[in-house]
Amino acid sequence: TKPSIGLTGLGVMGSNLALNIADNGFDLAVHNRTNADVDRFLEKSGDLRARLTGHYEIEDFIAGIATPRTIIMMVKAGSVVDAVIAALTPHLEKGDLLIDAGNSDFNDTVRRTKTLEDQGFGFLGIGVSGGEVGARFGPSTMAGGSAEKYALVEDMLNAIAAKHEGEPCAAWLGPDGAGHFVKTMHNGIEYGDMQMIAETYGVMRNGLGMEPKAIGKVFERWNEGALGSYLIEITAQILQTEDPQTGADIIDVIVDRAGQKGTGRWSAIESQKLGVPASAIEAAVTARALSAGKDQRETMERLYGTPDTVISSASMEAIITQLENALLAGKIIAYAQGFSVIRAASEENGWNTPLARVAEIWRAGCIIRSVMLNDIASAFANNPALESLLLAPAFADKMKATHADLRTIVALTAQHALPLPALSAALSYFDYARQGQSTANILQAQRDFFGAHGFERTDEEGSDHHGPWAMG
Ligand code: NDP
Repeated sequence: TKPSIGLTGLGVMGSNLALNIADNGFDLAVHNRTNADVDRFLEKSGDLRARLTGHYEIEDFIAGIATPRTIIMMVKAGSVVDAVIAALTPHLEKGDLLIDAGNSDFNDTVRRTKTLEDQGFGFLGIGVSGGEVGARFGPSTMAGGSAEKYALVEDMLNAIAAKHEGEPCAAWLGPDGAGHFVKTMHNGIEYGDMQMIAETYGVMRNGLGMEPKAIGKVFERWNEGALGSYLIEITAQILQTEDPQTGADIIDVIVDRAGQKGTGRWSAIESQKLGVPASAIEAAVTARALSAGKDQRETMERLYGTPDTVISSASMEAIITQLENALLAGKIIAYAQGFSVIRAASEENGWNTPLARVAEIWRAGCIIRSVMLNDIASAFANNPALESLLLAPAFADKMKATHADLRTIVALTAQHALPLPALSAALSYFDYARQGQSTANILQAQRDFFGAHGFERTDEEGSDHHGPWAMG
């Protein structure tokens, strides 16, 4: 009998996902544009070979799947997905289900859902997190599309997903683009997490003059506490690893220039489109762009001179404790921003995305898995209408206990020319967001002065008051 599931795109993610699916007892037809990769994949599939059938041509691949078909596409995001859909659809039958499991822009997913559903096909856009290892042994999967179609593949997705205390990290998060949107924000938050960790490393390295291995030990310790997370854990390991070639600390032979594929940038763009601030995440995206311009940074260093970044005043231990709290406060703010963006997108698009579920399925399998997600899940479960994580009692307590340290660290590092773009953006956001009286009265006055835009008064109704400005 033919399998009812197929997967096309046997790259890094697709090949591992295919093995994961087969490993969970599902027969699977596989296809890849480059045929040699089909052979290579089957050769290394070992015991799972019996569950897999390989195909070189799209037509044979589709003919080799029992109807109604479920076909997972795990190909390069962007126009490739449209090209693969165009190649598949002429051979499909009504009722067949296509799944785009790549990192697609949710706007494309909304469009593709409509087009394919109009043609009588099902379509799900599923964000998959966890990299290569996650794909093979249990990713976190964030699905969007029709609930009825999701129900058809729910058992399979639950089976292959990472488990957190036995619960699969897989969920349906709303219609059409909801899953890919949540994946985009996951990646934006991931940028924030990574950048803030890098910033605290910078303070210890360039401010306190600590060696990589010693910093690694600090992260190891932090990993036991409220900051416990996969990203802290791997950073601790990275900093204690030596380069086999030179014997140096490996971090010192790695170039300080980070790339990006787009999802982080999309998270910043979408938050701006929605008018929901995600400044800590945005700052992290900006920091990557700054990192990429290494040549210009070197030119600027020659122009402005190398600052003395060494912090010699206070006790090192005290600063390390303050850094831990600063990182926690910054992280809470970045997550508060990310979740507020998801909430706004859900409202704008009518997705009804369950925020507690989002936090729950990020607790295992994905890159941002952390102990803090338990508390985030509880905060949204206790109050699904929660507007900001910063308003949740448990997080307000944590912020009250840590924001003074974030402030101390931002102030201290500013004086020593140690850049903390994400952590300082987080602090500014917090200080503005908690301020009942802002300075936007100046903005209103300026807008009225140069553009007669009108303003609201504190002592009268109406929004069309004007100042007695002299023209010109
Ligand atoms: P790879 O580069 O390893 O694989 C890309 C796949 O896309 C290959 O199977 C390739 O086929 C196929 N492909 C590319 N162009 C075309 C085309 N024009 N027509 C048909 N097939 C094409 O990428 P990954 O596996 O890393 O990524 C796949 C998706 O998963 C992407 O959307 C990525 O963003 C996402 N993702 C990646 C993660 C990661 O950690 N790598 C994590 C989470 C999501 P061929 O062999 O013929 O070139």
